[in-house]
Amino acid sequence: MTKHIFVTGGVVSSLGKGLTCASIGMLLESRGLRVRMQKLDPYLNILPGILSPFQHGEVYVLDDGSETDLDLGHYERFTSDRLTRNSSWTTGLLYQEMGEKERAGEYNGVTIQVIPHVTSIIKEKIANLDSDDVDVVITEIGGTVGDMESLPHMEAIRQFANDIGKQNCLFVHLTLIPYLKAARELKTKPTQHSVGRLLSIGIQPDMIVCRTEQPIPAEERAKIALFCNVPADCVVEERDADFSIYEVPMALHANKMDETIVSLLGLKAAEPNLTAWREMLERMHHPEQEVTIAVVGRYADHKDAYKSVYEALDHAGGANRTQVRIRRIDSENVTRQETRQILENVDGIIVPGGFGERSLDGTVEAVQIAREKGIPFFGVALGIQSAMIEFGRNVVGLNDANSTEYDRTCENPVFCLLKDDKDPEDGVRRGSRKVNLAAGSKAAQIYGTEQIEERHRHRYEFDFQYKAKFEEAGAVLSGEAETGSHLEVMELPGHPWFVAVSFHPEFKSQPTKAHPLFADFVAAAVRHRG
Ligand code: GLN
Repeated sequence: MTKHIFVTGGVVSSLGKGLTCASIGMLLESRGLRVRMQKLDPYLNILPGILSPFQHGEVYVLDDGSETDLDLGHYERFTSDRLTRNSSWTTGLLYQEMGEKERAGEYNGVTIQVIPHVTSIIKEKIANLDSDDVDVVITEIGGTVGDMESLPHMEAIRQFANDIGKQNCLFVHLTLIPYLKAARELKTKPTQHSVGRLLSIGIQPDMIVCRTEQPIPAEERAKIALFCNVPADCVVEERDADFSIYEVPMALHANKMDETIVSLLGLKAAEPNLTAWREMLERMHHPEQEVTIAVVGRYADHKDAYKSVYEALDHAGGANRTQVRIRRIDSENVTRQETRQILENVDGIIVPGGFGERSLDGTVEAVQIAREKGIPFFGVALGIQSAMIEFGRNVVGLNDANSTEYDRTCENPVFCLLKDDKDPEDGVRRGSRKVNLAAGSKAAQIYGTEQIEERHRHRYEFDFQYKAKFEEAGAVLSGEAETGSHLEVMELPGHPWFVAVSFHPEFKSQPTKAHPLFADFVAAAVRHRG
């Protein structure tokens, strides 16, 4: 039978619940257990894809094309679970589904209420992940205990545990133990209050995970255990990881969290095998050199807007025993002389994904600097538009080369709306597609294969009418969709490292398995630095 772990958060938001869930998943997998991850978000949006990256960070895209919260990125980076649209539900989506059910007459005219209807649909989504090939489902409840919005979720998981038997469920509560500098004391009261709130909803947490800046002394731990009504070994310290988020699982492991979970849920599990993870951390801890990579994009100022790109660079750094320093450059500042100077002196330039008018000009200039100065360049999604527009204008000689995303009336729209293989409603191509790579191309050599599968999220593509002109001018169009419908990869052979792709390779990079393109790009940056 599939067991369930529910992770709630208390005291304050942004405690890193997603990372804690991902770390628990990773630890259980290291013991040979099969896990499935899920996030239930209490907000009302139905389209996470149009949430502002400034407010909400990156939109993380799954194989099936679902656009989700960036926590799902942590899940996929830490575990081998490949998520689907069943792994991410906002309350808005649940309400939408309930509206459809009502229209279909499924409620038989009864009054539709939070209890039992909203709670039932939440329980359905949780139970939906049960399967013979899953030992443990880990469900993260978004928000903080005490939020009005997450009350139905709390009620639903309370009922769920009651339905399937308390022994098959585990409630993990993540809280903050603040350190008061003046008093030189860790404070447990907020945690006691937060657990008190959970208890008033009928949930007795089984484990308390404590985010803390300072080690929690045994007597404080005993106090938390006593007041929160759990055994002392169920109070787990999660100290701030100052080096890397990938240390979090090790910190939880050092506090025997996986052992305690396995025993509380009565799981048959192997001894943990953490060798690959430890080796990865060891490589990251002991870099032999460093490089600086500029990430030039419109959302560069927001620390989470290109989350997966930054993570993929870290993984690639680990693979190359290299410390990757990231310079975030707002694409709107590229025209400034001092910004140009920074760009001319970095070891590699990335133009990541982006939407909307103001993204383009600065990124095109960044491409030009990279191309002309021989700086390793990696274009991702929007980055292939920027790269090909720059090449079109400055090498092919199409002065007004542009994308219809930015200029609908330009004479040479080298990028135009997708022709086929797109969502009929909004014209976006989303999710995994097979890509054929030209034999002998740099891309094929880097991947070590001529067919790959990568995730997409774009509305514009290269217009094949311009293919011959670009090739004559020296561009190698080295990757096409398996269906032949569109261009996927462009590279410049005479350049030390210049690859642009229409997909998002960053979504498939993992700390122990750096994505080949990112790994090779960082290797090129190391060579560039010399
Ligand atoms: N805005 C571009 C497009 O829609 C690029 C999308 C992206 O960067 N993901 O094609």
